[in-house]
Amino acid sequence: MCDTCGCHINSHTDHKIIDVHQSLLAANQEQADRNRHHIETMGAVAINMISSPGSGKTTLLEHTLDRIGNTLKIGVIEGDIETERDADRIRKKGVPVVQLTTGGACHLDAPLVHKGLHDLANQSEDGKFDLIFIENVGNLVCPATFDLGEHIRIILVSVPEGSDKPAKYPTTFNGADLFMITKTDLLPYFDFSIEEAEKEALRLNPGLEILKTAAPAGRGMDTWVSYLKNLHETLA
Ligand code: MG
Repeated sequence: MCDTCGCHINSHTDHKIIDVHQSLLAANQEQADRNRHHIETMGAVAINMISSPGSGKTTLLEHTLDRIGNTLKIGVIEGDIETERDADRIRKKGVPVVQLTTGGACHLDAPLVHKGLHDLANQSEDGKFDLIFIENVGNLVCPATFDLGEHIRIILVSVPEGSDKPAKYPTTFNGADLFMITKTDLLPYFDFSIEEAEKEALRLNPGLEILKTAAPAGRGMDTWVSYLKNLHETLA
């Protein structure tokens, strides 16, 4: 028992943990709102990409950059726990890219992305962009709680991961604007039900847009690029 209030020590500690967590999220939210304004002053629309590791986020970006070419000015912020590997892949496409490493944290947060925005702007003569992609740390849980200041949030699930992911990770799907099913060229080899994935995702989030892609094979990529161009025209 606690001498001060008579509660059980464990529940007292729990209260403190909840308080710290709430103030951390409130501070993140304030910075996220500032990031959104910051991104708008850069002329850009920002897209936060969330998925498990290995869903094909970086591969999608590589093929997207090939298709968009010089028609839109793109910047990329890469998030990982360690290494510059994803930034190195994107740099080969000739676009400004910043690698953020969290040093262990399982998600990006708004203060780290704010630093990334400055580093990105330094790679552009006028500091302006049309679209900024933020590739989050591969994790289908923690990134959902942290607003980064993005305008659009995309959740990717690849065919090998299974069609039960929307039902298992409802918070992540609730906050998304677009659900992309990737690696659809593998559908003949895996027990993945497009119908189940779509049905569960729409049950959680009826306004969710859904796209199916296989980036290296070019499937769904015309629709994806049209979606991005439309975003830029309507939001920027
Ligand atoms: Mg990646």
